[in-house]
Amino acid sequence: MQKLLDGYRNFREGHWPQVRRVYEQLADRQRPDTLIIACSDSRVDPHTIFDAGPGELFVVRNVANLVPPCEQGEGLHGTSAAIEFAVVKLEVQTILVLGHARCGGCTAALDHTIGADTMFLAPWITLLEPALARVHDHHDPQTALERESIVVSMERLKAFPFIAAAMHTRGLTVQGARFGVADGRLEVYDAATKSFENVT
Ligand SMILES: [Zn+2]
Repeated sequence: MQKLLDGYRNFREGHWPQVRRVYEQLADRQRPDTLIIACSDSRVDPHTIFDAGPGELFVVRNVANLVPPCEQGEGLHGTSAAIEFAVVKLEVQTILVLGHARCGGCTAALDHTIGADTMFLAPWITLLEPALARVHDHHDPQTALERESIVVSMERLKAFPFIAAAMHTRGLTVQGARFGVADGRLEVYDAATKSFENVT
């Protein structure tokens, strides 16, 4: 906690005076134009990667940047609720699924290293199974799964009725990208070629 408080004091003394006016303007309501669904991984912070300031990005983070199927079954649906809020209430223009290299969630799914002894992780990681099935014989299954899981999440997003409606009526777009942790490069999914292309 001490490190966090030291960081807060640095923010308050150093950065806050520069962004104070922005926060004051945002005090009444937020108007982000982008929803990002990213991994909780500590190396993949969307605000850092996209050089974004306060109020610009509405971010949902979970293990392996996964979108669950559009289902209203048992339990609570935190990721789906955040997606609904961003699309229906905030009316974001873009949804970006942001995956990344060296994703531990993907590694665990490939290696089957998350056991039944976990309460929530093992069932959560089963969301990767459709992507896993598509990369079965790939020469680089880690990278292939990281990419395919983004594609599956994009497909699931488009099956949410309020997203399909917003795409049709007001041009909401669903995008995918993958951040290379070690090299800092970003590759973006190209729907026309169905492949990920480096951003230059
Ligand atoms: Zn990850």
